[in-house]
Amino acid sequence: MFPIDDLDDFDAPARPRPPRRKAAATPGPALLVIHIERGRATVLGSEGPFEAELTRDLAARQRTDLAVGDLVRLDPRGRIAEALPRRSSLCRPDPGDRVPRTLVANVDLVVIVASVVAPPLRPRLIDRIGLAAARGGCAVAVAINKVDLLGDDRSSLAEADESRTGFPVVPVSVVTGEGLEELRSCLRGRLSAFVGHSGVGKSSLLKALLGFDVATGAVSEGNGRGAHTTRGSTLYDAGDGTRIIDTPGVRAFGLSEVDHDEREDAFPEIAALECRFRNCAHAGEPGCGLPDALEDGRVTEARLDAWRRLR
Ligand code: GDP
Ligand code: ZN
Repeated sequence: MFPIDDLDDFDAPARPRPPRRKAAATPGPALLVIHIERGRATVLGSEGPFEAELTRDLAARQRTDLAVGDLVRLDPRGRIAEALPRRSSLCRPDPGDRVPRTLVANVDLVVIVASVVAPPLRPRLIDRIGLAAARGGCAVAVAINKVDLLGDDRSSLAEADESRTGFPVVPVSVVTGEGLEELRSCLRGRLSAFVGHSGVGKSSLLKALLGFDVATGAVSEGNGRGAHTTRGSTLYDAGDGTRIIDTPGVRAFGLSEVDHDEREDAFPEIAALECRFRNCAHAGEPGCGLPDALEDGRVTEARLDAWRRLR
């Protein structure tokens, strides 16, 4: 229902998810997955990156069970059989009966890259990606690129400011360099994933931060990859323990199964409202606690807007 750009290059057909097999106690160090193709992955060893095949079993469920950022061990035949347990993940929620796709694993921070003017700011997309990231245990920040196009009038940024989304926002411009230092300091020493709609300037921003062009793969030898452009996520090393995963452009981010509880988790001040009816929709019902809460500032109009956008 909500397609994601460029993500279907290693789609497996929909099928019931096989039971997770327990990882065999294979010896050897945990290896970081930095890129994935159909049936194989590039992992980072102590001597540098190398490719390893996936077992057939893992290949059949790789879109869910293997992602860039995962840690894996090789089986005695040098194949990847299973990822180690994750501490966080960003998953595309499951539209209908298809298995969910894991976009990235084990990231500290998801940076939602947005832009103004061209393409315009899409606050609802920020809300949805942010919610999925928060559900997966990732911190979230928003980089709003192309602010040079706004001139002096920054009022349109209010639509996506922290008071509304709950995520810190860094206005940036690759053209003027504004905000790049602030963004760098958010990223320093962490593993981050850049996620955003295509055209927002994600590749330009990564080039400014990494010093090479991820779109052409020009200097990606350092990451053990040839100059072919690839469509899946890729992890890059920016030095100083700073690592960034570039993810494919997200055309739309399905959050089809955001349920009531998840929305309330993200908006505790709204969940805390005391209304006469237990399942009050806070839309003018008698005895609704919302008007009082708005009055005394426990709930802000901005947060209420964001909450309503997620319905
Ligand atoms: P991606 O699809 O998100 O990777 O976007 P690109 O990096 O390919 O950029 C899309 C277009 O936006 C290109 O024409 C860039 O030159 C332009 N662009 C990127 N960053 C900026 C910026 O900060 N300001 C302006 N005005 N244009 C930008
Ligand atoms: Zn109510």
